[in-house]
Amino acid sequence: MSSYSETEERQALREAVHKLASGYGREYIEEQARNDGKVTALWQDMGKHGFLGVNIPEEYGGGGGGIGDLAAVLEEASRAGAPLLMMVVSPAICGSIIGRFGTPAQKQRWLPGIADGSFTMAFGITESDAGSNSHRITTTATRDANGGWVLSGQKTYISGVDEADAVLIVARAADAKTGKLKPCLFVVPTDAEGFTKQTIPMSFMAPEKQWTLFLDEVHLPADALVGDEDAGLLQLFAGLNPERIMGAAFSNGMASYALAKAVAYAKDRNVWGQPIGAHQGIAHPLAKIKIELEQSRLLQQKAAALYDAGDDMGAGEYANMAKYAAGEVACNATDVAVHTHGGAGMTQEYGLGNMLLAARLGRIAPVSREMILNFVAMHSLGLPKSY
Ligand SMILES: Cc1cc2nc3c(=O)[nH]c(=O)nc-3n(C[C@H](O)[C@H](O)[C@H](O)COP(=O)(O)OP(=O)(O)OC[C@H]3O[C@@H](n4cnc5c(N)ncnc54)[C@H](O)[C@@H]3O)c2cc1C
Repeated sequence: MSSYSETEERQALREAVHKLASGYGREYIEEQARNDGKVTALWQDMGKHGFLGVNIPEEYGGGGGGIGDLAAVLEEASRAGAPLLMMVVSPAICGSIIGRFGTPAQKQRWLPGIADGSFTMAFGITESDAGSNSHRITTTATRDANGGWVLSGQKTYISGVDEADAVLIVARAADAKTGKLKPCLFVVPTDAEGFTKQTIPMSFMAPEKQWTLFLDEVHLPADALVGDEDAGLLQLFAGLNPERIMGAAFSNGMASYALAKAVAYAKDRNVWGQPIGAHQGIAHPLAKIKIELEQSRLLQQKAAALYDAGDDMGAGEYANMAKYAAGEVACNATDVAVHTHGGAGMTQEYGLGNMLLAARLGRIAPVSREMILNFVAMHSLGLPKSY
């Protein structure tokens, strides 16, 4: 095994996940999306096999691996046409933050369920008036007379809240010393009083729904606060790097799926006495995607390796670049796949048109392409801050 290969264990994990997810495949996802269904059967099956919790410590029911393993799981499910969006959120963001910063009691309470998929936690930071500028979020947390918390505010584009038992909400609390507002993380049960949600009609079809959340004086016990009240920003970044790595895995898997579909069609479709893949006009764009995809997968693996080695700074830079590269290759791959299929690429039967739209999510969330370019310009290249 060369040092550029993943371990045999990781490769075996990939194979097992791909096999399981292929049993569901794209048809399953599309059927659920069309009929307002959920991916619960696949989620539970993946949980039962331990795939959803590969990154959670063994003592809390997980596999004891790292984010590189979890990203491999999501990439393989996505490559099989059956990605699970909530993996980006529940085990990756919430599992990482609670695993690193939660109290022993919080870990015991939430991690085993996150690991086996029986407890799903959504994640809410985005607000409509703040957008990419998360320093502007206004959801506030104030102490009540009993040492508990009261949360008020709104969140938007929060994925899968209807499937979640709780949402990890980023709110701002007043610093007792300076009076300034600082970000803090709270686990809010989805059945809490004062917590309501409204679905956002999206233009792409997916089983996971997006939600606007309203928190109207939601009362929480003191231990709903995860970790240290004064280290919210650090804790947040411990969750956002895994989110970006998982976003990359989602997009890379989608690009692999689209490329495989396109290659198979290019070998089969024959309109000039030879397969259309014999024409360089078809073959070269596919070869280009293959190269871009391998570059992008290497970035994903490097970002994950840095995170798992405890290098949060290095992981931050590479997780951003990995997410950027994967968002680009997913958009390019789905575009080329549609084009390779000609008219068939626009039909529901081949399902690539919807994927073309869905692929654009990788350019927008969890952090947009432009915000990554801002980050790289400033932090990697030392250019002045532009925003
Ligand atoms: C399907 C979906 C699922 C999501 N799931 C979640 C979730 O579970 N939890 C959650 O908290 N959030 C979630 N989000 C929100 C997502 O993270 C945001 O949409 C994203 O961060 C961009 O914010 P925005 O939509 O407000 O865009 P805006 O901030 O309004 O940006 C609009 C455009 O302006 C550009 N722009 C903004 N600022 C700059 C700048 N300084 N320089 C250059 N260009 C700039 C952006 O790149 C973008 O192209 C989800 C979004 C979608 C679409």
